[in-house]
Formats: sequence, structure tokens, C-alpha cells
Amino acid sequence: MIEFQNVIKSFGGPAVLQDISLTVPTGELVILIGPSGCGKSTLLRLVNRLLEPTSGDIRVGGVSVLEQDPVALRRRLGYVIQSVGLFPHLTVQENVELVPSISGVGRETRAARALELLSLMGLEPGQYAGRYPRQLSGGQQQRVGIARALAADPEYLLMDEPFSALDPITRARLQEQFLTLKREIGKTIVFVTHDVDEAVRLGDRICVLGNGTVQQYAAPEEILRHPANDFVASFVGEGR
Ligand code: ADP
Ligand code: MG
Repeated sequence: MIEFQNVIKSFGGPAVLQDISLTVPTGELVILIGPSGCGKSTLLRLVNRLLEPTSGDIRVGGVSVLEQDPVALRRRLGYVIQSVGLFPHLTVQENVELVPSISGVGRETRAARALELLSLMGLEPGQYAGRYPRQLSGGQQQRVGIARALAADPEYLLMDEPFSALDPITRARLQEQFLTLKREIGKTIVFVTHDVDEAVRLGDRICVLGNGTVQQYAAPEEILRHPANDFVASFVGEGR
């Protein structure tokens, strides 16, 4: 479970996030959606301590992130961003194997796990494991990035617009695959997007952010059928 408790974040000027309280239940996929610049990425970065709140608290598994060792904390939190940043001089398999928290286990175990994750992401190891990132499409690179995040077997996944840079067809395919994967791995996931269709397709719950606050937090159908206010109505209306 991830809990945001009265989180305020300012970068010096007016607060970007004003009093955000939100609970991400264990095992669920919660979408954070809202206009560009509304603070979605900021909210994720507060979880893995790339940023610190101006006030308020973020609790992961019941313990404040501010009281946890950042390195140990990040090991429990897989983080996938729009551009995955694979190591160009390493093969696909090496990129996935490299993850620190599995580096303690034997080489063979690591290799087997890497290949399993690549298959799970729809990348046939026989065909892709030995390739270099430059020999892959954007969508394939993104799949490797997700496999790499999963290699550490984190309890949570934080995903910041992981599919946004992809073309619509690749994107739809990855969404499908991600739904299957989600059922198999059963992790708690916070997924940022600005795409309403993606939010509805993937989310167990959707949190609509705007003007620094939570405008609505509900199941996808509820958001679509009963938007809480004009902001949500116009956001989900225009986004479709
Ligand atoms: P989103 O991901 O929803 O598009 P962000 O969380 O990236 O929005 O940014 C929210 C606001 O905070 C923006 O106005 C952005 O310019 C500002 N911001 C984000 N990070 C920083 C930073 N490190 N320093 C100063 N301002 C920042
Ligand atoms: Mg962002």
C-alpha cells in the first residue's frame, strides 16, 4: 500500500501539489491522470525520494519514505519512465541481468530470470536476448525497460508515461500485454498517463489531478459516468 498524506510540494513558487491525500491499495493499479504540468511526475518522484515533500508524508507499506534508506526503498520500487535509458553497449539480456538486487544470486539464476522476463514481455529470447538496444524498435526497448524493472522483483511499480512515446499500434499492443502481465505478477502499480483511453483500459482506479489537488478518485466507469465536477467532465470529455 502507498499512502499520500496531506502532501504539499512547492519548488519555491506557488505549491504544485496542494494537500494531496490518496491511498493506493495493495495489488491494485492506480492511474494518475491530469493535464501536462499538474504534478503527476512530481507525485511519483516523492514516492521514490527523487524529491522530498514540502510538508505531509508518503508511506510505503505503512512506513514513511522519509524514514527509509533511499537505496533500500528504491529496490522495493520499480521505476519505469518514458525513455528507458538502456545501456547501449550491453545486450538486451545483460541490460535485464544487471539489476543490483539480483546481482547477489548466481549467474545462471540471473540469466534464467532475465530470459523468463523477456518472454513474459513478448520478446522471444532466442531472437532478442543477444541484440543491442539500437537493434530494437522503440516499443521493444520499452519492453526491455519493463523487464529490467521487474528483474529486481520490486513490490511496487511506478510507471511514468511508459508508453507515451510509442506509435498508437505499438502502444495498444503493449497495453494489452501489460494487462496480462499485471494479472500474472500481482504488484501494486502507480501508472501516470495523460491519455484517458489508456487510463480507462488499464486502471483499477483513476485519480484525476488538476490545480494541485485530487479532483476525483474512483473506478474508471464512475469517472466516465459521474464526473465529480466540471474539471473532470471536461478533462475526460476532451481526452476522448
Ligand atoms: P506533469 O508530470 O503532470 O506534467 P510535473 O510533475 O513534471 O508535471 O511538473 C509539475 C510542475 O512542477 C510544473 O510546473 C513543473 O515545471 C514544476 N517542476 C517539476 N519539477 C521541478 C523542479 N525540479 N524544479 C522546479 N520546478 C519543477
Ligand atoms: Mg510528467
